[in-house]
Amino acid sequence: MAVSLEVGEKELQELTRLATTYALAHGLLYLPVGDVQPPAPTSAIHAPLAIFPTSYPRSKFSLAQKLQPLFNVLYARVATDDQFLDKVMGAVEGAGKVDEFTGQLWRCWKQLRDEGIQQSWQLGLFRSDYLLHDPEGGKDVSLKQVEFNTISSSFGALSYRSSALHRYLAKSTSYFGAFPGLSLDDLPTNDTPSRLARGLAEAHEVYGSANAQILFVVQQNERNIFDQMDLEYELLERHSLHVIRQTFDDLVESAEIDATSRTLRIKHPVTNQAVEISTVYFRAGYTPTDYPTQTHFDIRLLLERSRAIKCPTIQLQLAGGKKVQQALTKPGVLESFLLDRTRWDGPDFTEDDVALLRASWMGMWGLDEDDGGGTDKARSAAEKLVLKPQREGGGNNVYRSSIPGFLDTLPTAEREAWIAMELIETPKGVINYLVRAGSGSQGAVRTETISELGIFGWALFGPGAKEIKHEEAGWLVRTKGTDSDEGGVATGFSVLDSLLLV
Ligand code: ADP
Ligand code: MG
Ligand code: MG
Repeated sequence: MAVSLEVGEKELQELTRLATTYALAHGLLYLPVGDVQPPAPTSAIHAPLAIFPTSYPRSKFSLAQKLQPLFNVLYARVATDDQFLDKVMGAVEGAGKVDEFTGQLWRCWKQLRDEGIQQSWQLGLFRSDYLLHDPEGGKDVSLKQVEFNTISSSFGALSYRSSALHRYLAKSTSYFGAFPGLSLDDLPTNDTPSRLARGLAEAHEVYGSANAQILFVVQQNERNIFDQMDLEYELLERHSLHVIRQTFDDLVESAEIDATSRTLRIKHPVTNQAVEISTVYFRAGYTPTDYPTQTHFDIRLLLERSRAIKCPTIQLQLAGGKKVQQALTKPGVLESFLLDRTRWDGPDFTEDDVALLRASWMGMWGLDEDDGGGTDKARSAAEKLVLKPQREGGGNNVYRSSIPGFLDTLPTAEREAWIAMELIETPKGVINYLVRAGSGSQGAVRTETISELGIFGWALFGPGAKEIKHEEAGWLVRTKGTDSDEGGVATGFSVLDSLLLV
């Protein structure tokens, strides 16, 4: 699969010029670091990007797309299985007992259940992430899931733009012959923003109040704002839906719910009029730093208490935890979610579907398993493992040789909050040229790379996921140097990329 990418210095410079100007012209953008730009942004930089699309087996791309509807329904069902989530993530038995953040989320959810949940519909905008597993140098390549995201799954819009960028470079330069036999048909199209916006619009429809608006809960000083704005533009252009953007801090002042109807209203920042909210879309709230005080948790609770449809609810956020991913791999669990017709109405699945999903998983176990056995196993297999806590957003994992020392200091009680996962062994010798903007930019840097494919999906579902609407919703490729264990565009490790199917 390794494409040699023979390209001369002059050609590379021209491709870089065309790539960065296209990115700047088409909103493939980021706000610069540390530049708050009040009262409104006046400049932007291009997002970090790959000059060439990454060659990828067509069969594995199709497989990832085929898995998405299965994962959509699976996670919708997980989010409606209170007993399962209590066991895995709860504050009494599960990860929430020792992980303060998970525990706090779980306690909020428990309180909501005690009070009586007001809105039985839930919306998920998901992204399932994969790496190619190639332990034998090309002989037996398989697709393996890294994780499943149920909150703030980002880069839907920018991934659409980076695939459009590569299509443009292919059209305008044929990549100067770097891909012999290059055909535009091999660059798959990507319509992520319109599909994700459709998910939000469907939720608005189910809520059933034409004049209501959609609330985006965002982080202060968000650099990835263009990715979010594209969704706003889609909602307005295609669905005539208005969006209000608010941080948790803004919401302390602006949010209120009606005591009887539980309608959520936001005081509009300009007109001061109270605007009814149909759907709350969280692009914040996935990390403890989003909740510096109890007031921030109280605001989350207030939003959850309302009749607005949440994307995601707390329970759907909890369902995206690494501990759930690991619990699903235990014998019989997947079968109980997909094959047990006494438990679930709605789409039927087959043994083949179960086998497909299971084959996408690496080995995983809890560090708390087998009375010390889980940690012993992790210690002895450390070189082929990654340890993960219940966190999102990158930079939280422990890899390979750091594992034994980490285990030495991990209190026994905290083992419950961590999982061990076998490392995916990615294909070697894949070369790309990566460009980052900013003062440290060195132009396009030749790099041996690893590419992570993300498939988006959305699901809108009612109680017990009996009624469910869902679809696969496009894709994302993030590419990083082989010298980095972590991924993440926002964290600076990865660049935006796309696929050339081979
Ligand atoms: P987060 O929710 O913080 O994004 P991830 O599970 O995606 O957590 O881990 C972050 C990064 O670590 C991934 O993008 C990937 O590059 C790397 N990673 C995670 N799990 C594995 C694995 N099993 N094998 C190889 N790399 C992994
Ligand atoms: Mg990730
Ligand atoms: Mg994640």
